[in-house]
Amino acid sequence: MELQFIKIDKNGTKIYHDWTCPRCGGAGESEAWAHTGRTCYECEGSGRRHKPAIVKHYTPEHEAKLNAKREKRIAERIEKAKVEDYPKALKRNGFGEDGVGYVYTGNTFAIKDELKAGGARFSFALHWVSPKPIADFPCIEIRATDVIDWFHSRYDLSNPKCEAWLAEHGIEF
Ligand SMILES: [Zn+2]
Repeated sequence: MELQFIKIDKNGTKIYHDWTCPRCGGAGESEAWAHTGRTCYECEGSGRRHKPAIVKHYTPEHEAKLNAKREKRIAERIEKAKVEDYPKALKRNGFGEDGVGYVYTGNTFAIKDELKAGGARFSFALHWVSPKPIADFPCIEIRATDVIDWFHSRYDLSNPKCEAWLAEHGIEF
């Protein structure tokens, strides 16, 4: 079914109405529906929609402008998500609000209950991290900026960065 031209707006966008029934594609019937009488029940066989779908054909200039706006919107949304998520990511991973944490060395399994009770968080990448040193358990200061990265929708520990940090500090779990 042909598009019905409606108008050109101020941006040069051509606006059309598409009356084609979305279920049968305008045919009004299909062999696939033979067992229920072939006729499309969406349009009762007319092949037309009850209300037209709006179709817009943009000029290349206007389309570029729309794309730029969309990209800007996406970038802003990501920025906002980053700002909102960073403090949460610090907390999730055992760092203090100042972005500093303490990684526990040695046999942490033996002291895990004390670490947990003291506010440390466990991750496979760094094992236990707490915002302040707990008791006099051996630990090394770590900065979140050295090991946390943005992963599409949230901040998380970066495995390669954690491995590099552990190697640099001679820690093996
Ligand atoms: Zn139909």
